[in-house]
Amino acid sequence: MKNKNSDPSRRKFLKQTSVAGIGTALTLGISPSLIAGGLDNSATPAILGGPLASNPAKWIKWPIWIPETDEKRVLEVLRSGIWSRASVVNEFEALWAKTNGAKRCLTVSNGTNALIVALNQLDIKGGDEVLVPPYTFISTVQAILMNGAMPVFVDIDPDTYQIDPAKMEAKITPRTKAILPVHILGMPADMPRIMAIAKKHNLVVIEDACQAPLTEVNNQKVGTIGNAGCFSFQNSKNIPIGEGGAIISNDIAFMDRCVSFQNLGLPFGTAVGTFNAGSVRIGTKVRLTEYQAAIGLAQIQRLDAQTTVREENAKYLKSKIENIPGIVPYKLYDCATRVSFHLFSFRYKQDAFKGLTRAAFLQALRAEGVPCSGGYNPLNTQEFIKEAFESKNYRRMYHKDMLDYKKYMENNQCPENDKLCTEAVWFTQNLLLGSKEDMDSIASAISKIYASADAIKKSLEK
Ligand SMILES: *Cc1c(COP(=O)(O)O)cnc(C)c1O
Repeated sequence: MKNKNSDPSRRKFLKQTSVAGIGTALTLGISPSLIAGGLDNSATPAILGGPLASNPAKWIKWPIWIPETDEKRVLEVLRSGIWSRASVVNEFEALWAKTNGAKRCLTVSNGTNALIVALNQLDIKGGDEVLVPPYTFISTVQAILMNGAMPVFVDIDPDTYQIDPAKMEAKITPRTKAILPVHILGMPADMPRIMAIAKKHNLVVIEDACQAPLTEVNNQKVGTIGNAGCFSFQNSKNIPIGEGGAIISNDIAFMDRCVSFQNLGLPFGTAVGTFNAGSVRIGTKVRLTEYQAAIGLAQIQRLDAQTTVREENAKYLKSKIENIPGIVPYKLYDCATRVSFHLFSFRYKQDAFKGLTRAAFLQALRAEGVPCSGGYNPLNTQEFIKEAFESKNYRRMYHKDMLDYKKYMENNQCPENDKLCTEAVWFTQNLLLGSKEDMDSIASAISKIYASADAIKKSLEK
């Protein structure tokens, strides 16, 4: 019979972790009485009837709203009757531009529309190809399609979860016009390399920073590195307003065009027309409202401190779990100087957990009182792109070879991403606002599941 402890990675793990539990103690041959409190069953996973590692009621609820400090501005706006965009929206935009070290900020109705407007005013249109990662929220890809352009998927680096610059140049064609890197989970994409590729091939760069407010690359805020940066203030995001979004940029003429475009094409700044003659361009209307801006101003007050706590907790939690075999936490590029950690993630290798599937692991982790999920499904294989290809507009804009969906699918395979989507485990950012003890409880929940993976597997298979 194979000795459990002969597995070197397992022995190393048992030596390095400080899990004080009967299960671990027994596998090491230590008498249970050596453990504080003598006979306890704290190492029995909750899913097998043991006590919970975490108190699920303790996790910080999101969004945070503090009536005493947060409601004054909102009530002022409500009572003023000035609800369409005016001075409070202007104030929010000025603050968000300054916070990021950007010359300008324009708010819009949401992050999706921030992307749509930015792509549109950088002239990304029918016939253009845009390089994009498959590991992102669906909006990133929808924004490309809404402008009639063609998403071209570049596989990710599974260690960092980000679009892989090493795989980019092979995807560039004469039709490529833009790169749309996403700072996914709030961790930065490899911007120095991406910008070098963009420069070499004369491409514009739109940063999807929806998950990454205050994230920095070499001490520069993401969203200010490419031609434009887009943010989301949707309720789950780090600046929750319900809905809301923003574009930031140092390009004044571009920002003036964006202001005009998101306001029915009416003239603005350098995007001038004849005075009182009406719109100067095609436009839509996706303006933020005054009460949304008032909520946003309250949320931004807390952002810096919250970001610091999330980053400290993420580092701490990573250090507590990275030696557990089968748990492979995120890696950051060296250029990352600050990280918003909209999500905390590691890859789960089921082989190290006796073949316990990720779904079963997530179930066991939730049973411990730790909310978690498996994250994204691959975007490059979803049917909505086929619908675009079959649309009247796409059939008129593209040669039919380019709309061969089967060929498109073959050319857009992303095997690293496919694998990541089966292995990722996510914790949402509000968990990272907890205490060190809360992080410890997550680590011990995972350790308990590791130590009893076999038993959990058998009980779930019954
Ligand atoms: C949330 C999000 C968006 C879209 O923002 P909404 O405000 O929900 O429209 C776009 N990209 C990424 C990566 C996001 O996380």
